[in-house]
Amino acid sequence: MPTPSTTTVTTPVVAPTTPQPPAWVIPDVWHEEATGLEWCDCGDHCPLTRRFIATIADNVCGQASPERITHPQVIAIAKNVWAYESVCRFFTMAIEDAAVRVNGTVAKDYPREVGLEIVKAFSNRWNGCPEEGCEAYWPGPDAPAAGSEDPTES
Ligand SMILES: [Zn+2]
Ligand SMILES: [Zn+2]
Repeated sequence: MPTPSTTTVTTPVVAPTTPQPPAWVIPDVWHEEATGLEWCDCGDHCPLTRRFIATIADNVCGQASPERITHPQVIAIAKNVWAYESVCRFFTMAIEDAAVRVNGTVAKDYPREVGLEIVKAFSNRWNGCPEEGCEAYWPGPDAPAAGSEDPTES
């Protein structure tokens, strides 16, 4: 039986690299140019204000100025801003894009201000669903339909 060789195995020393988070510039969504569809179809080119989104957020969340806004609530707020009866996967994907743009990543929930910014960032660029005959599926099972919770009841 051959005796096992006693060569020492040297592991090459690799300098540990700390992965850096991608640098991104948080857009000023309240002042950037809106390039998508008009959110309001009255024809007056109404600006989508923070106050308007905040009011809808209060309604969706069932409380005034909630500390945090969940991702499903962000979707519900955007759905209400746009007065859609239901939304599809393209809509929710665009919300996810907006969350990445504003927050760096999609999260379970966001500080209120970030949640409002995501709705605005989404609305600035939403161009409508590109798919004809696309199946809308919202509200999902884990998200209450907007208005299903009456904040006056407790
Ligand atoms: Zn209008
Ligand atoms: Zn669609």
